[in-house]
Amino acid sequence: MKELEARIKKDGRVLGADVLKVDSFLNHQVDPVLMQKMGQEFYEYFKTKPITKILTVESSGIAPAVMTGLAFQKPVVFARKHKSITMNNDMYVADVYSFTKKTANKISISKNFLNSQDHVLIIDDFLANGQAVSGLTDIIQQSQATLEGIGIVIEKTFQKGRQLIDQQNIPILSLARIKAFKDGQVVFEEE
Ligand code: 5GP
Repeated sequence: MKELEARIKKDGRVLGADVLKVDSFLNHQVDPVLMQKMGQEFYEYFKTKPITKILTVESSGIAPAVMTGLAFQKPVVFARKHKSITMNNDMYVADVYSFTKKTANKISISKNFLNSQDHVLIIDDFLANGQAVSGLTDIIQQSQATLEGIGIVIEKTFQKGRQLIDQQNIPILSLARIKAFKDGQVVFEEE
């Protein structure tokens, strides 16, 4: 998505070897006009699938997920993050290791909001090592819902998340694909 790439070039900041800060339009301040266009892109790509629900993880996935839900006219469910959680029969729970915070978390979704009848589209802000997506996939399996696809705003192709998803043959669309950070600059994959 050219507009997103241009925005990353203009406002993104590279931190260290492998983190991109996009606080000014995605992770802290949110640009709703751009979010809506991204939601529409995900819709155009996945609209032939019988999606009943959009799934994401709090908090940075919520903005793009809501705009995707708006395009599909379907509900959005975000998994909550916990440092620890006691077993609870009303929740699906999975483990996620946070790439940016270097901490282990549990994520959970209420059984009220996901079941075997659902056809799910996962949306998230970043794909790095694939931990967040794996946690959501785990929860979808527990619920016996069908995973129809994954939509990612920014994928870093030099980390191993994509490989993990491709191994499972799940359709995926990433709106911006970063192949490297070079001298503090973002280098995109060719389209
Ligand atoms: P993964 O689970 O794929 O390793 O990482 C995905 C999660 O980590 C995303 O939901 C995002 O919140 C965070 N993340 C991973 N890489 C980056 C990055 O370069 N910049 C920011 N801002 N967040 C990232």
